[in-house]
Amino acid sequence: MTRSSEAAHGEVRGRNTREPRLADRLAAALDRPAAQQPEWPDPAQARTVVELLRTAPPIVAESETAQLSEQLAAVARGQAFLLQSGDCAETFAETTESHLRANLGLLKRMSLLLAHAAGLPVVPLARMAGQYAKPRSQSVDADGLPVYRGDMVNSAERTLAARTCDPDRMLRAHGHAARAMTLARRAYAQEPANPHTGLPSYLRGTPGGGRSVRTAEEIGREQGLSGEQIYVGHEMLLLDYECAPLHTAGFTTGPEPLLVSPLAHFLWIGERTRGLGDAHLAVAELLANPIGVKIGPSTTPEEAVEYVRRLDPYATPGRLTLISRMGHSRVREVLPPIVEKVTATGHQVVWQCDAMHGNSRTTPDGRKTRHFDDIIAEINGFFDVHRTLGTHPGGLHLEATGEDVTECLGGPRGLGEADLSARYRTACDPRLNEEQSMELASTVADLLAE
Ligand code: PEP
Ligand code: MN
Repeated sequence: MTRSSEAAHGEVRGRNTREPRLADRLAAALDRPAAQQPEWPDPAQARTVVELLRTAPPIVAESETAQLSEQLAAVARGQAFLLQSGDCAETFAETTESHLRANLGLLKRMSLLLAHAAGLPVVPLARMAGQYAKPRSQSVDADGLPVYRGDMVNSAERTLAARTCDPDRMLRAHGHAARAMTLARRAYAQEPANPHTGLPSYLRGTPGGGRSVRTAEEIGREQGLSGEQIYVGHEMLLLDYECAPLHTAGFTTGPEPLLVSPLAHFLWIGERTRGLGDAHLAVAELLANPIGVKIGPSTTPEEAVEYVRRLDPYATPGRLTLISRMGHSRVREVLPPIVEKVTATGHQVVWQCDAMHGNSRTTPDGRKTRHFDDIIAEINGFFDVHRTLGTHPGGLHLEATGEDVTECLGGPRGLGEADLSARYRTACDPRLNEEQSMELASTVADLLAE
């Protein structure tokens, strides 16, 4: 990581300014085709909103983003582990202290458990403070209404008026993100630095298979992160929202100046928008923020190498996170050639396992769910692949909440299909609940300790 000095670029930068060449490159990127963008009924209103967002206050500090980049470099080198978790879709209604605390408390307990087992620092990254836009497979739902695209775009309510895309929602999303970030900073720092506090009783005792339990202070020290800083990330999907506030970054990962997003520390490109000729990738190339790309089972090793070449041109460790979401039945077959080909380039990426999105299924009564055992099976496959190839299984990407929801099957209480209706509350994909998540963390702790 180098700080680009003002002298080196011959200009004084103010907030929300863009170097002319970067502004041109951004405009060219946005001229490319972009999948999954809403059709605003009133484009002039959308332009007004975009203009307002250009000068909206930052959600995160650029210095924190630079710090996350350093920590992801450590993950890429095998010296740390990345744990990313949160709601599939955040909603405006749940920008509440209790919901954010529940999710952050869970993230901190999982992080501490893993740090303890692995003896490695764990970098906590919340799917939070911006995860309000969703890519969808269909454009209409079962009732023939336009599909819900996340609170940033329309409302989940089942009326045509509610489902009509409304650009003012981008401004509301920014307000919710700012509030969520303020709450998150405080809540994460206040969560106890002890993996046992708040653990379900069946998990208390000897996490990680009977290794000695160190004190909270020792674990905190080992984390080397003060245990206080929480990072946030979301899918960089809705380009009107994401691109409006981009400005020239004060840090860069190579010889060229870049833009930086003040909307999140970490941004990822989803499985449905990762086309090599498309706008999302072209925008991400211009960013100093660390970037993730979701890679599903149709990803070829050649494509993965192209992501590396495009998004990590200066071979900066941890600059790119490849988030595999292959499904438990495919991961052992599809992931190895990708890992081999990327490793052969010499670039050091973060390998992260999204164990959720390749393992979705629908119950006979039409609920989207995932089975705990399938999620664990994909994680086992991911670890086996990396152990075999000598690469670092660097992180996990989960949809999980500290609330006691019934959205995923299986786990310690053996939830069945008949149990799902009790507390099925997600606005989009099914999340692991607290006890399923801690059981998963305990399993991963054992894998990391091997
Ligand atoms: C998601 O993370 O919620 C998501 C839609 O993932 P993917 O792009 O991998 O399908
Ligand atoms: Mn999801």
